[in-house]
Amino acid sequence: MSKTVTITGAAGQIGYQLAFRIASGQLLGANEKINLNLLEITPALDALKGVAMELEDCAFETVSNIHISDDPNKAFKNTDYGFLVGAKPRGPGMERSDLLQENAKIFSAQGKAINETSSRDIKVLVVGNPANTNALIAMSNAPDIDKSAFTAMMRLDHNRALAQLASKLDCHSSELSNMTIWGNHSTTQYPDVNNLKLLGESISSRLDQTWIKDDFIPRVQNRGAEIIKARGLSSAASAASAAIDHMRDWVLGTKVDDWASMAIPSDGSYGITEGIIYSFPVICQNGTYSIVQNLEIDPFSKECMQITEKELLDEKTAIEHLL
Ligand code: NDP
Repeated sequence: MSKTVTITGAAGQIGYQLAFRIASGQLLGANEKINLNLLEITPALDALKGVAMELEDCAFETVSNIHISDDPNKAFKNTDYGFLVGAKPRGPGMERSDLLQENAKIFSAQGKAINETSSRDIKVLVVGNPANTNALIAMSNAPDIDKSAFTAMMRLDHNRALAQLASKLDCHSSELSNMTIWGNHSTTQYPDVNNLKLLGESISSRLDQTWIKDDFIPRVQNRGAEIIKARGLSSAASAASAAIDHMRDWVLGTKVDDWASMAIPSDGSYGITEGIIYSFPVICQNGTYSIVQNLEIDPFSKECMQITEKELLDEKTAIEHLL
């Protein structure tokens, strides 16, 4: 039976990349048929129609149906995999709290639609920023869906970290494993190399700590801004690629002897406040994830993990009335 994949903001930069890659089978493989539901706001429906026409013109063997809509209740009907990409960008003079409120409206409506219409086994990945708090809002508005279904994307940060480390260590990123990004998808995130392995061997003690603290961590935290400066536009293809990595690992499992970074509802592990959508190292198996436990946390890491936790708690306070 075909799986239903929903992409919101599907006419946007990331959505445009994501739709074609998923349609071509890069999420579930060449043998799995999909229905593609694309959601946009009403003014973007014409552009979305164009995207759907291009998708049709690809004649992808893996696509059974394409539906476009501006109604979340239609777009999330029977959804198995939801990519919540569309979000309101920060406008000129807009405060962060206004951004949170504006997006809260979007993600509460989508949470309600998921609750009413989606598969009870839906897996949700929120990409639209502020992604972690948007995921919290969607989750809170979908009381009939298991909370573990709501996640936010940290995989681009994880992949960016691997790329930087591979360049520094003169190896291929696929030879590195056990990287962790903790916390919020923002500049407070903590890229943690303490468990990093190269070809299965621990390598963290060989890393120059001055480089890690003064170059690597700020570089990963600010890579989005670096790309905007170079490209004149925010990252899109890499974000879409990371979204596919996140969902594919969740569905099909993380690599043996490795883990992924996913923002998920905290269960209190590592002392992080329960309920906020915080990024942890996770192992995925049989369509579920579990937090990697008992990692040693040094004082520097603890402090970094608490800074990003505090930011998420502040974001939660700003939208508490909508939960
Ligand atoms: P993009 O496709 O470039 O980005 C979409 C969202 O992803 C933004 O919130 C963006 O955050 C976020 N994002 C998360 N991680 C990253 C990353 N690493 N790099 C870049 N972006 C990241 O935005 P567009 O403006 O091109 O497209 C958005 C689309 O969403 C528009 O077509 C709009 O009409 C639509 N939309 C749809 C809604 C709906 O379906 N109900 C609701 C609101 C909008 P940031 O802003 O911080 O870059």
